[in-house]
Amino acid sequence: MTLKMTDTNTTDALTGLYTHNVLFEYLEKALSSKQENSVGLLYIELDNPERFNDTFGYNTDKQILINVTRNIAALLDNELFVRMGTYSFAIAKKEIPSVNGLKALAQKIINLLREPLNFQGNLLYMTATIGIGFSSRDQQNTPLTLLKHAEYAMKDAKRHGTNRIMVGKQESRILHEQELRLLKDIPYAIEQGDIYFVYQGQYSYKESAFTGAEMLARWEHPELGNIPPAVFIPLAEKSGMITPLMTRTLIDAASMYRKLEEKGMKSFSISINLPFQVLMEESFPDTVQFILKAYDLTGRNLTFEIMEDTIPDHIESFTTRLDEIKNIGFSLAVDDYGTGHTSLRYLLHFPVDYIKIDRSFVQGIHKEHKRFLLFKSIIDMANALSLEVIAEGVETYQEDEVLRNFPELSVQGYLYSKPSKADAFLQLLDRSE
Ligand code: C2E
Ligand code: CA
Ligand code: CA
Repeated sequence: MTLKMTDTNTTDALTGLYTHNVLFEYLEKALSSKQENSVGLLYIELDNPERFNDTFGYNTDKQILINVTRNIAALLDNELFVRMGTYSFAIAKKEIPSVNGLKALAQKIINLLREPLNFQGNLLYMTATIGIGFSSRDQQNTPLTLLKHAEYAMKDAKRHGTNRIMVGKQESRILHEQELRLLKDIPYAIEQGDIYFVYQGQYSYKESAFTGAEMLARWEHPELGNIPPAVFIPLAEKSGMITPLMTRTLIDAASMYRKLEEKGMKSFSISINLPFQVLMEESFPDTVQFILKAYDLTGRNLTFEIMEDTIPDHIESFTTRLDEIKNIGFSLAVDDYGTGHTSLRYLLHFPVDYIKIDRSFVQGIHKEHKRFLLFKSIIDMANALSLEVIAEGVETYQEDEVLRNFPELSVQGYLYSKPSKADAFLQLLDRSE
């Protein structure tokens, strides 16, 4: 397509390309056309050409943009080429039989960019990422959804490295949109109690009773329904909300301890999941000390669980931090034991009290003797190091029967206790007394 007029609403002054207004009009028409074929869109982002300005002078990025767009335009026939943002472009094409043509075009562009740009006698190498959006006849896309589709694919591709092409999936767009929404909602959810905690009992064979419980977060989103912790915990970590969540956990634990005390269960232990990132925060011990005093938690039987695969091989600051936490009076557990790679060595260095053997070792332990032997070897090692062991994810009587070969074990799993709200959990304790 060639330019017919110069209007700042439709034409970009620097590159002479059309603007997004023209793209929207084009997509609107193409998507509502009755023809059988599909509409496709490439979303291209150059990897920050501004970084060259320091070395090659102010405005180098602008010159790069002009050169690159001219070179890309030379590859095109009747596609619409527009400038979207500072360093991003879109190429729209209608009446295409499949996504393959778009992929081929994207590859041509990446190949073109691999050629160095000659800039005042210097060779510059530009890289880019391309996301592909594709709307077949039966998908009900609007210009905006198709654009987002391509843009999110570009962002996904970027996470894997540069000079990459990715074709958007309808689900990944939804995931991205949901992720943004959830990120925004987390602070309110913690504040308003939409994120709350359930308790899962830890049953001691020796005592024939529940001697502890793990607190697990739940999110009942008023519009989106239940959001699993595997989804929102990483988001909370990303957005800095994990520390407020931890504070909330400790406050709820305090209220649980009071209820347990009313039942005369003073030594009952509560376990809290502690992300490595929070543990290593400069102010973590102070925060914990503060909450401990404010909510009367001192002297309680409280365990922090740290996931094995986040534990570093051996770093001084980590060991020091663990010692600090132990000195405050907490116990430490290695969560998901057996899933990391440093397994044995750190147990010698780090002041841990418990290991929680991952569910994958327990699942089907009655079916395979090898599994049993593996499990036994972990128990033998734990005994040698005087560590307490909790087996995770016990679901069936058959598994339980095998695990009872180890009378010193505690178990945590659906067979004994589904994670449940505080009151329901307290009732379970009453029933099992
Ligand atoms: P995790 O700490 O390993 O927690 C155990 C997970 O296994 C829980 O999933 C629990 O519901 C599930 N589970 C327990 N027994 C069984 C069983 O018999 N069978 C099966 N299939 N599963 C069982 P959940 O609650 O979805 O939590 C997933 C992960 O999310 C947790 O793994 C933990 O890493 C994280 N998480 C949950 N709550 C919190 C929290 O409050 N803070 C932090 N930082 N992480 C949390
Ligand atoms: Ca855990
Ligand atoms: Ca676990």
